[in-house]
Amino acid sequence: MKVPVEIITLLKKEEKFLIMTHINPDGDAIGSSTALSLALGSVGKETLLYDRDPVPQFYRFLPGYERFTNSISSLVTGHWSLILLDCNSPERAGIDNLTFKHSIVIDHHETERDFGDIRWMDTETAATGLMVFYLIKELGIKITRDIAINLYSAISIDTGTFRYSNTTPEVLRVGAELIEAGANPYYISNSLYETWSGGRFDLLIRALNTLEIRDDIAITTVTKEMFIKTRTGPEDTENFSNFPRMIQSVRISALFREIDTGLWKVSLRSKGDVNVARIAELFDGGGHKNAAGYKIKADLESAKEALLKAVNGYCHKSQQT
Ligand code: 5GP
Ligand code: MN
Repeated sequence: MKVPVEIITLLKKEEKFLIMTHINPDGDAIGSSTALSLALGSVGKETLLYDRDPVPQFYRFLPGYERFTNSISSLVTGHWSLILLDCNSPERAGIDNLTFKHSIVIDHHETERDFGDIRWMDTETAATGLMVFYLIKELGIKITRDIAINLYSAISIDTGTFRYSNTTPEVLRVGAELIEAGANPYYISNSLYETWSGGRFDLLIRALNTLEIRDDIAITTVTKEMFIKTRTGPEDTENFSNFPRMIQSVRISALFREIDTGLWKVSLRSKGDVNVARIAELFDGGGHKNAAGYKIKADLESAKEALLKAVNGYCHKSQQT
């Protein structure tokens, strides 16, 4: 993979970097940002790692995660260069009205916004963690054990731990290199998948109990009341929409999570050629071919109907092309 030379030049020249990623950060967002902060820090650069939302409890095994802060002064940012990871617009990062000395975007999402002085977008790449891996190597910085754990976790999350269609020979080669650098696959998989709180599991049971299958679309719902009853939060629903995809006949799985009365976050997962990023875009959201999301203001039934209508329209269109 070719790292843009302008990024290398800028990272070598500048001293202060704000590293930011998307709201509701997932493993790729947190792992790739933390890895880059550790790497730049190891060569004497100053970094500030920002996310609007806190790092979920189950990602707190990642070395260096505590570098994340959710407070930032707009007085400071003008002197710092921004590196925006795993998303490509200030809105997705939950930041508005901030100015930066320079801005670099490093992302692999299909939905693009026109932001950043230097944009490195590679939609063919499985994870932002993979791009950061090549970036760190190109900078001549040593991949320490802590960096390796972060990058291996980032790549694991976005490839379903080396199962999804984005798992290429290159992904496995980088994974092998990260293991050689000290990432332990058993420890990481155990930390990622087998450390759920009882409340989170209870929430999953409740979500799966709402399952309805309409045509080949599986729909599950998580309400605010369920969060209260299980003492959990929105971050605990990460990956919930993957479960109904286990049913053979299901082509799209949609999880409706209640943000507020009449406001829903929809997480879409699909199989094979069904491109859910195209569906999410219709609602001003975005994502990847097989994993995307959006927000919708509506009552639950209307929100479901709107999705079914959009999927029908999408299927109709893709049959014609
Ligand atoms: P999730 O369903 O896990 O929240 O997100 C799946 C994928 O879609 C992730 O890559 C995430 O960044 C992207 N995504 C989720 N919600 C949104 C959204 O509202 N807007 C955009 N642009 N991307 C989203
Ligand atoms: Mn990602």
